[in-house]
Amino acid sequence: SLPDLFQRSVEKYENKIAVTFYDKAYSYSLLNDSINRLASALVKRQVKKDDRVAIMLPNCPQYPISYYASLRCGATIVQINPMYKSSELLYVLNDSQTKVIIVLDQLLPVVEKILHETSVTTIIPVSFEKESLFHQLLKDPGDTIPNDKVDPKEDIAVLQYTGGTTGRSKGAMLTHYNLVANTLQSAATAHIKTNTGEERVLTISPLFHVYGMTSAMNLTFYNGGNLILVPRFEVEEVVKMIEKTKPTSFPGVPTMYIALLNYYKTYKFDLSCLKTCTSGSAPLPVEVINRFNEVSGTNVAEGYGLSEASPVTHRNPISGLQKRGSIGIPIPNTDAKVVDIATGEEDLPIGEVGELIIKGPQIMKGYWNMPEETANTIRDGWLYTGDLAMMDADGFFYIVGRKKEMILASGFNVYPIEVEDVIYSHSKVLEAAVIGVPDEYRGETVKAIVVTKENERITEDELIQFCRERLSAYKVPKEIAFVEELPKTAVGKILKRTLKEMYSVSK
Ligand code: ATP
Repeated sequence: SLPDLFQRSVEKYENKIAVTFYDKAYSYSLLNDSINRLASALVKRQVKKDDRVAIMLPNCPQYPISYYASLRCGATIVQINPMYKSSELLYVLNDSQTKVIIVLDQLLPVVEKILHETSVTTIIPVSFEKESLFHQLLKDPGDTIPNDKVDPKEDIAVLQYTGGTTGRSKGAMLTHYNLVANTLQSAATAHIKTNTGEERVLTISPLFHVYGMTSAMNLTFYNGGNLILVPRFEVEEVVKMIEKTKPTSFPGVPTMYIALLNYYKTYKFDLSCLKTCTSGSAPLPVEVINRFNEVSGTNVAEGYGLSEASPVTHRNPISGLQKRGSIGIPIPNTDAKVVDIATGEEDLPIGEVGELIIKGPQIMKGYWNMPEETANTIRDGWLYTGDLAMMDADGFFYIVGRKKEMILASGFNVYPIEVEDVIYSHSKVLEAAVIGVPDEYRGETVKAIVVTKENERITEDELIQFCRERLSAYKVPKEIAFVEELPKTAVGKILKRTLKEMYSVSK
């Protein structure tokens, strides 16, 4: 089980630092002590095996404490985005039938507003400034050890609600076995110094998201490394943090690299401490990798995953052949295929675009309370990702977009990522998103929404011309909107659904 994996590190790395949060540091044994005390307190508050415990916290030491304490009780964690509004929270709490919620005190009003409509019986506030119930529970002598045995293959460790980038949020049931497997699979590929206890991992990627949970938290603990937690991405603060804490590893998302790159122009900082920079959760434009490498000498290795796969399934090997623009190769014990989009059955030849499907020990048990969705998504043990991909002759995979986001312009398939990559290569562009908008004549037409860099200007015609020189006619955006900012999810994914709603007025 996950707590067993953690326990192994506690024994091996006892006095090493496990978590740093500004000027506070927790050794593995101190963190373990807090986990045991909270677990004992939770048992006394009637938390039993399979009960759902929701965590609604930003990155802070109380996160891993709550996470592992609940797991030690045999409970299931419900990961909650601290930015949720009451209505979103209500949906997740009711869908999961959550019993206990551990929440940052500042967010209490959001919870209290809907509490009477939920099955929550206990709220445990966490405060950074004053005494809170969480602190009181940590004073528990830790004398009550939960004794329900966990069945790693059956019992759900985490209900990971999918981000809802494309539709209604679904709870992916990740078992202990899924999460342990993905931690070990990641360890075999992610860090240079696996298991030496030397890794220092700057973690701004939120732990409530599956990428931060596995690729930052669980992996670092398995490696005996130091998790340096930062609650929010503020580019200036992050740069200072890098200089001060000298991390060796940075699991980031594309928008963080873009922001760092933009900041680099005004402030030359030294990133040479970083040995492994990884990126996942959204497409990383090749131009961003190239420029980041030029200015910092640091390479960013892209990987790929999804909530339903705990999440990692592919990555560019840290040492070995890497291909920019590719999500890399399947990680150990993972099978991947590209199949016909319409039938979902026939394997496609090298270089052809189809749906990416995946098999491996990290694939979820199913969606919580959604047997039909589960049957649609997992067929014959293969997870249908809903992403469009192709494989090259070396076995490297390339994501070209989501099935739902593919644009059908005058009968041609346009994959947004290809167009976005071209737009990103324009030196005045900071961010871009390409969507299909309804068009009476062509069915759909390509539209780009662009944010230019500070103090830079570019006209619609100029950018369309730039695309024309680099793309076939049907892929060239017909319209470009310039905006100050793109709508994003908590992990910095561009919310294409929102953009589509904003721009989908038929012409
Ligand atoms: P939902 O699937 O509910 O719309 P979501 O996007 O937030 O929400 P996640 O599980 O967080 O769901 O993200 C998984 C998705 O992110 C993948 O299916 C894929 O579309 C995208 N993704 C992840 N890594 C990459 C990558 N390297 N390149 C392109 N897309 C990626």
